[in-house]
Amino acid sequence: MSLSALPTFDDVQAAAARLDGHAHRTPVLRSRTLDEALGAQVFFKCENQQRIGAFKFRGAFNALSQFDAAQRRAGVVTFSSGNHAQAIALSARLLGMPAVVVMPHDAPAAKREATEGYGAEVIGYDRVKEDRLAIGRDLAARRGLTLIPPFDHPDVIAGQGTAAHELLQDVGALDALFTPLGGGGLLSGTCLAARAHAPDVRLYGVEPESGNDGQQSLRAGRIISIPTPATIADGVQSQSLGELTFGIIQRDVTDVLTVTEEEIVAAMRFLAERMKLVVEPSGCLGLAAVRQLGERLRGQRVGIILSGGNVDMARYGAWLAAA
Ligand SMILES: *Cc1c(COP(=O)(O)O)cnc(C)c1O
Repeated sequence: MSLSALPTFDDVQAAAARLDGHAHRTPVLRSRTLDEALGAQVFFKCENQQRIGAFKFRGAFNALSQFDAAQRRAGVVTFSSGNHAQAIALSARLLGMPAVVVMPHDAPAAKREATEGYGAEVIGYDRVKEDRLAIGRDLAARRGLTLIPPFDHPDVIAGQGTAAHELLQDVGALDALFTPLGGGGLLSGTCLAARAHAPDVRLYGVEPESGNDGQQSLRAGRIISIPTPATIADGVQSQSLGELTFGIIQRDVTDVLTVTEEEIVAAMRFLAERMKLVVEPSGCLGLAAVRQLGERLRGQRVGIILSGGNVDMARYGAWLAAA
């Protein structure tokens, strides 16, 4: 991957202009309790309050809003059972184009219904026997649809970068910024924004211990693929980084950290109890890493992206109750 093929900060700024008036400018919140415990200043970018409940609306809308007339008429296809599916479905509806989402047959009914509720056509597949990328490509070819994957696409990456762009505009320079890491769309977009605003900021991706393919890839200097990890953080269950996201992450990221399932739940409980915020497990990764580092952040200005808040309420209640 040549560096010149990668999106840049200019693309993030262009995405911010396209999203203006369509995405929410989400709030930045503080916690006095956390600041006192760490002796640091922590700024939370609340993408759990973004449209569809996660940052993914940013990348999806940025990509779809650049379709030409023929692409709009035919529509978009993607594969995802999670927040990207809803982001594509809502963006397509807002822009008046058809959307097809390829989703495993065993995806939670709530996710399927949410996606259909935004007007998308859902096509099921067998996640053991079938390849979702091949199905997506085949649909794209047969129906003339444009395929927008969940992370490895320049317009998706640039769109995701607008969250960190807003955070840095709102709070000024940071010493360190923590972002959940799945396929790397959010982290690589964050890199583009953060390196432009604050060249010296330390940038961390955070993964669950069981799904540390990003950490392995950074250490090895090449993309490492793992089996679908077992973690409650279902938004970061991707098996590998993408070509584009890895290129940016390898160039710009300080390190990739990991946290345990217990640390994720403890962070989720802190956000609920102390900050009155509903954040899904994937969205808690940044705070879990910050709490793990503890003392080592003393005196610093720290940013955390709370990436989303879409969580099944029964499971959420059970996690919070099991102290
Ligand atoms: C998709 C997602 C992530 C991971 O984002 P990537 O761009 O795949 O790294 C993290 N948190 C939430 C809530 C998500 O929906």
